[in-house]
Amino acid sequence: LGAAAPLYTEDDPLVILSSSTVTSSVSNSSSAWLVQFYSSWCGHCIQYSTTWKTLAQDVKDWQQAISVAVVDCAQEENFDVCKEYNVKFYPTFKYFRAHSPPTDRGTTYTGADRRVQSVRQLMVNILQNHTRLDWPDHCPPLDPHSSEELLPLLGQRSNHFTAVIIEEPDSYVGREVILDLLQYSGVQVKRALSSDRPLLDALKITTFPSIYLLHPNGTHTHLHVQKQLRFFFSSMLRTLPGVQRRLTSDSDSYSVGQMGALPQKQGAEPWRDFNRSKVYMADLESALHYLLRVELATHNTLEGEELKVFKDFVTLVAKLYPGGVSVVKLMETLSDWLLSLPLQRIPYQAVLDLVDNKMRISGVFLGAELRWVGCQSSRPGLRGYPCALWTLFHVLTVQHDATPAALENTGLEAEAAPVLQVMRRYIRTFFGCEQCGRHFEQAAAAGMDRVQQMLWLWNQHNMVNYRLAGSLSDDPLFPKAPWPSPSLCASCHEEKNGVHVWNQDNVLSFLRHHYGVSNLSPKYSL
Ligand code: FAD
Repeated sequence: LGAAAPLYTEDDPLVILSSSTVTSSVSNSSSAWLVQFYSSWCGHCIQYSTTWKTLAQDVKDWQQAISVAVVDCAQEENFDVCKEYNVKFYPTFKYFRAHSPPTDRGTTYTGADRRVQSVRQLMVNILQNHTRLDWPDHCPPLDPHSSEELLPLLGQRSNHFTAVIIEEPDSYVGREVILDLLQYSGVQVKRALSSDRPLLDALKITTFPSIYLLHPNGTHTHLHVQKQLRFFFSSMLRTLPGVQRRLTSDSDSYSVGQMGALPQKQGAEPWRDFNRSKVYMADLESALHYLLRVELATHNTLEGEELKVFKDFVTLVAKLYPGGVSVVKLMETLSDWLLSLPLQRIPYQAVLDLVDNKMRISGVFLGAELRWVGCQSSRPGLRGYPCALWTLFHVLTVQHDATPAALENTGLEAEAAPVLQVMRRYIRTFFGCEQCGRHFEQAAAAGMDRVQQMLWLWNQHNMVNYRLAGSLSDDPLFPKAPWPSPSLCASCHEEKNGVHVWNQDNVLSFLRHHYGVSNLSPKYSL
């Protein structure tokens, strides 16, 4: 009898341990560990896996202080280790203090409350139960600071921000935000208690939790946050100027720089000021420029399935592209030309000739250079094309929603979720990052038939960015964070049972607005 499929995979934001790695990971570790010993055939464990993954995602940024892990006791290779750690029932939750000896078999959590918020609070308690001697190396202090410690900081200059969260004694928000910012430099988070009268009087704080910010230049302010929730506090601190995520080395991330030669003049690009709440036509044009002149150029000829995929892509853009007459004209001409050709095989050079020469004669052409705006990066090789390709497809999903009839008589109208299907085939066939294509295909295979396209793509884009946060492709100026941020759309965010949740209706309205025609900016465009 083969073991059932494992409930957790490498794509989940937690550590998968096995017999050869349990002891070496959890003992003598600089962080504490919370490990779920489960069995992939236990019905309760199967049900609970969703909660555990939500928890792991929720506390992903805490891992240098406390890591979340799983061991599958149904795998034959783990039989011995599960026995050695005295696991008799599934799931069994054990935690290990930082710097624990190899003989430590962990402390079993026997509480009946296994909801995300309760386990998260348990994790905070585990951390606070360490002593000065075994305190996890990278865990900041979690105890409250007093007015005697904090008030002298007012007016002082510093090389970083200091945020003080003032809260009721039984609130966990302060400690959670401290841990949420663990991987970020440029800001220190401290907590103080609502019972500290001198502090409240000096800072004029009357509601809790409140957040008070000391700026590097010595000024200080009581910050207004739309909702007094952990997610709002953490998001706001992560986006302060100069606050950056420390990067982890991760070979699993992709940036366009890996694709080799880039035709832009690297380093010489002037910075283009832009507004994050707008979508720039220049990014969309540059995406098409890159796609036609660089990505496609790696294919000497287009034939069979490739040709069909390319034709569909061009048709989709010709019908749905919302801005820029030049681009629409070019795509229409290209589309007509492709459809009129009886050939089963087209040399790439012919496509290029059409784009470059024939179009230029009629005065219709795509910009001759890459001009990233919302997709600019702090250094060459980051963002740019992949960022703009996402943007292009978000725009197309919204445009299709606004004008579904545009695809009539194209052969695409019969497909469910046509924009996503064309995108899926394009990514699979042409997108330079193979592993991105694999991930995207996996997600698409899980069902694209009856989805709301705009929401599906929004969710998928966030999934990719959750995975990439802190990896080498993360641009410190544009750290990957759940999008839209509370500052772009406060009503998109809610909290349910202590866990951040999206208000999907509001996200949908926001997508319609953000990627709609009226929010497209022509600045920097042709
Ligand atoms: P992003 O910031 O991610 O996105 C561009 C803009 O879109 C943002 O500035 C923001 O305005 C907006 N935005 C952000 N999130 C959303 C959202 N959820 N919904 C709507 N709009 C949003 N790389 C990998 O390493 N592994 C992968 O599996 C992978 N898969 C990919 C799949 C596709 C289809 C594409 C196009 C790229 C993929 N990449 C993957 C590449 C990766 O996305 C980029 O290299 C880069 O990390 C994206 O980040 P960015 O900062 O450039 O753009």
